[in-house]
Amino acid sequence: MNIDHDAHRDRALEAIQNVDWFPGESINRISAMVSGRPDWCLSRQRAWGVGIPVFYCRGCDGPVMTPESIGAVYDLTLREGSDVWFERDASEILPPGFACPNCGSADAGFTKETDVLDVWFDSGSTCRAVLEQRSGNCATPPMSIWKARTSTGDGSIRH
Ligand SMILES: [Zn+2]
Repeated sequence: MNIDHDAHRDRALEAIQNVDWFPGESINRISAMVSGRPDWCLSRQRAWGVGIPVFYCRGCDGPVMTPESIGAVYDLTLREGSDVWFERDASEILPPGFACPNCGSADAGFTKETDVLDVWFDSGSTCRAVLEQRSGNCATPPMSIWKARTSTGDGSIRH
């Protein structure tokens, strides 16, 4: 992804300023990394991870990611867990009669994206989403602990 698309770089640099960094000088490392990157990887080709909920139309080969398709993945994931992306065919995930927004076909069928989310994106967004939903407040544990741990950078988490 082009990090300048939709002002992501500027927004990221602004958000970095609103984080309590431990140790404080960590802000220099992350700021320099975000300032100098031409792009940011969102996907990986791994056999494990969280699926990227993009479908591809068999009729026109176009990517499909609409509020309706995302909603279908979301609802099924809430009921059955994130492995449902790998366990079900596209026809079992998308609503009956779902039509491709690119070519209009409802009969050609769809395939699913096989890449998974990059761990940086996955660990930041899914952890935050779950903890915020459960605690309802980022300033109280466990969210406050997570924020403190992740603000020290990648090394303290994965190594
Ligand atoms: Zn299509």
